Amino acid sequence: MHIFSILGFLSLLATSAVLLFAFVRAHRTIRDLAEQLTQAREQQHQHSLQLSQRSELDTLKDEFISTVSHELRTPLTSIRGALGLLSSGIIGDVDAKALNLLRIAVTNTDRLIRLINDILDLERMESGRAPLQIRRCSLRDLAQQAIDTMTPMADANTVHLALEPSTVAQAAYPEALFFDGDADRILQVLTNLLSNAIKFSPPGTEIHLRSRRIDANEAEIQVRDQGRGIPADKLESIFERFHQVDASDSRAMGGTGLGLAICRSIIAQHGGRIWATSIPTKGSTFHFTLPAVPTEISVPMVCPAFPTCSC
Ligand code: ADP
Repeated sequence: MHIFSILGFLSLLATSAVLLFAFVRAHRTIRDLAEQLTQAREQQHQHSLQLSQRSELDTLKDEFISTVSHELRTPLTSIRGALGLLSSGIIGDVDAKALNLLRIAVTNTDRLIRLINDILDLERMESGRAPLQIRRCSLRDLAQQAIDTMTPMADANTVHLALEPSTVAQAAYPEALFFDGDADRILQVLTNLLSNAIKFSPPGTEIHLRSRRIDANEAEIQVRDQGRGIPADKLESIFERFHQVDASDSRAMGGTGLGLAICRSIIAQHGGRIWATSIPTKGSTFHFTLPAVPTEISVPMVCPAFPTCSC
């Protein structure tokens, strides 16, 4: 009996020791966790502080860009007007040497005005101060409008613009590609892509504009050229601000380096995607998608009264 009491006491002692050990460990773990929680809270506090500082800085930067751009645009427009008057000869005869200098001044002033307009455009879109004017639009009509707008530039570069006919799948309702969006903005995307295609195409080549329905909800538009193409490692970066395939492209082609960034912003606002594919030296294709809506052209139905009637 005595030995059982001793054994019972010993096992009680061992259990208490195990429990004490577990308690000490749990206590230590809880203390560590509490420390980690305090650290995590501190880090979160620092992050939110940094975020709010960053957003304040972003707002200040946007306001600064906007103010500087507006302040620059007004005097630049008047300089451009004066240069235009001088070079037109209305004010008096200008000799050939001066005329050449005036021509350079006009080209550079135009480029600066374009750059400022693009910066303001992008800034307005990204700050949400340029809401879309949404209405139902025909992609086909916009494509035709873009071709008409860009034909003089294409003619000057002896490049041919072609609007491809609808695919066989759309043959039943060939012009039936509609979307809800801002027609002016989509036209801006189309003309920018066509203008780039013209700039980078050799004379005598063709540029094709094609629209097709991918599925019930999405339409795709393609602008395909036979120009110099774009290297694979630049296909994505050209959509970033001021990114060019070649650093001299902007100067040589009169661009601003903001056109594709603006296109991406407009297409994203419409819920679509934009990207480029290319075979270097053979040409590039710019693709963008838009959420399509059911066709507006009424589906030809068989008259219920007279099945052979074509009313
Ligand atoms: P930019 O005003 O300089 O044309 P974009 O943002 O429209 O600015 O285009 C950025 C760059 O992408 C161009 O400078 C050029 O290097 C390249 N790029 C755009 N379109 C084409 C094209 N169709 N073929 C070859 N390169 C192109």
